[in-house]
Amino acid sequence: MNNAYEIAAATYLLIGILFGTMGPAGKDIAKEVDSARGSLLSNAFMEREAPSEAKLFFFRIIITLGFIFLWPFFIYGIMKEHKKSVALDKRLADERAEGIWFHYMGGHGIIACKDCDHSEEVTSFIHCINSSFSGFQCQACGKLSSIRAGSLGRAHVHVDSLQCECGGPLKRDKVIFCPSCKSKNLSYEMQYIT
Ligand SMILES: [Zn+2]
Ligand SMILES: [Zn+2]
Repeated sequence: MNNAYEIAAATYLLIGILFGTMGPAGKDIAKEVDSARGSLLSNAFMEREAPSEAKLFFFRIIITLGFIFLWPFFIYGIMKEHKKSVALDKRLADERAEGIWFHYMGGHGIIACKDCDHSEEVTSFIHCINSSFSGFQCQACGKLSSIRAGSLGRAHVHVDSLQCECGGPLKRDKVIFCPSCKSKNLSYEMQYIT
């Protein structure tokens, strides 16, 4: 009987150690320690010195031990977060595999088609003091344009109309296609960003 308890306790702790030192929970603990370490910038900002490595090591031991003894209380939440972040990574990878999107492109640059010779300058997003410019593509004729909007924080308030000269709708949340041959096999090279 005693033996069974010991085995159960050992198994419990072993699972805690495995969870706490590797996999998503282990990574979370490492992240926690890193954020306690702070960056040069955040430490300067908060006018504090970076904690000593010995302190951080102690901190790490404490949270790892805490996790090892109490893992059933944490593991559900950690796994749920982990699942969410895996799903998000997959969605981002799927989107990127589809082609290039305005929201993954920075600044202003050149878009080039890999299936024909077409290339042109395009603005994805730049901002000045009182205004910003966001890239849009007409879903009918493929024309790329940059639309003026409010300053940061009001970048979604567009000054210009979201209708192309051809009458087609200008969209920003679609995969960009070549204005010449409609291919989605494009590359983007950023030239500057503001
Ligand atoms: Zn158009
Ligand atoms: Zn093309």
